[in-house]
Amino acid sequence: MKRLLIKNAKAVVTVDDQDRVLENTSIYIEDGKIQKIGDGPFEADRVIDASDSFVYPGLINTHHHFYQTFTRNLPQVQNLELFPWLLTLYEIWRYLDDEAVYYSSLTAMGELVRYGATTILDHHYVFPRHKEQHFMARQFQAAEELGVRFHATRGSMSRGKKDGGLPPDDLVQDLDAILKDNEELVRKYHDPAPFSMRQLALAPCSPFSVTTELLKETAVQARELGVRLHTHLCETKDEEQFCLDLFGMRPLDYMESCGWTGKDVWYAHGIHFDSSELVRLAKSKTGVAHCPVSNMKLSSGVCRVPEMLELGVPLGLAVDGSASNDGSNLLAEIRAAYLLHRLTWSSKAPSGYEILKIATRGSAKILGREDIGQIAAGKAADLFLIDVDSLEGVGSDLDPANFLGTVGYSRPAKAVVINGRIVAEEGRLLGIDEERIVPLAKKKVSEMLAEASS
Ligand code: ZN
Repeated sequence: MKRLLIKNAKAVVTVDDQDRVLENTSIYIEDGKIQKIGDGPFEADRVIDASDSFVYPGLINTHHHFYQTFTRNLPQVQNLELFPWLLTLYEIWRYLDDEAVYYSSLTAMGELVRYGATTILDHHYVFPRHKEQHFMARQFQAAEELGVRFHATRGSMSRGKKDGGLPPDDLVQDLDAILKDNEELVRKYHDPAPFSMRQLALAPCSPFSVTTELLKETAVQARELGVRLHTHLCETKDEEQFCLDLFGMRPLDYMESCGWTGKDVWYAHGIHFDSSELVRLAKSKTGVAHCPVSNMKLSSGVCRVPEMLELGVPLGLAVDGSASNDGSNLLAEIRAAYLLHRLTWSSKAPSGYEILKIATRGSAKILGREDIGQIAAGKAADLFLIDVDSLEGVGSDLDPANFLGTVGYSRPAKAVVINGRIVAEEGRLLGIDEERIVPLAKKKVSEMLAEASS
């Protein structure tokens, strides 16, 4: 039995059903689960003194592309919007291999964990057609080494340029190859049990990079296999025009015609829905992964978050891929989301706490999980601590619930706990040797960029 005690926390922002904030209390953890919140006595193998700390539920990232950590801050794409941005980057991404996927996964997840993320999802959709690869295996390996609760998605692209799609033809795969790989991966990696550390969803990339047949077949397959469905939708007006031109339908009508709405479906971005479409999303319980930094970076638009919250559209938070962020930090995303919606919606904007709730309870819901996203007895022991005994805490530490949105926290978490295990402490990742990994990862970036420009 492994026992951990978070002792005498200055405040615990539980994000539980009663939105409780508890002061001067302890959290007792046994075998990966929260057993009790309150006063001891407790016997534990390890004790973290939290008397100067706020404790929050671990943050949950609902959309990402880890491989893009290798193509961030590239000068040639900094002034581009989505379609030309993608067309430029496909020319580099075709050189991905197992090693690049492994190191980019460690990079993205390592940064997320350091800043309080405990459940992390990735959407990997680039599978070069003529290359032997084991991308999902390398991602699960990286997650295990870091000790992260990992949700992979098997992305896919099947509509190349010759069929009217956006991606180059050598980056798309055939329908049968995709469906076969989907099934094998779900059987190998997806664990649907409570407190699961690894799950898999199916995720054709976007309406402009996959065929209608792939969308329809994947929806049927996911429901047969009991896994969730994810894709990009309503990210840009270009995408809307593409759907009108090619299918004669708006994006949501098109996805609905392919069987792609329901409580087992969530879309990344969800910016350009009209008002009646928001009502349909709420009714069908179709979720949205909100990616504010990426949406600002690519000039895509502003997600209608206050209306979605009011209507009850399931909403999670995400950093999106690192080529459009250009990092993997959910604490920064919470702060950016808070400010973006203050600017856009004024008095209707969500509070700092409401944004935190989207990044925890909201994200858990769109991943279909009841066991994470809050600090409560019987839930998974996923949480992080921040130190407020510092200048940053002076005058700002009176409202722990709103703190991360309204004040923001830019340092690594004091400690991050996943499944009852400490995985990061004072910014140091305990599962990997960062000093050894960083030069190897940088060397791989250089090699891939050199290959792409040769
Ligand atoms: Zn994305």
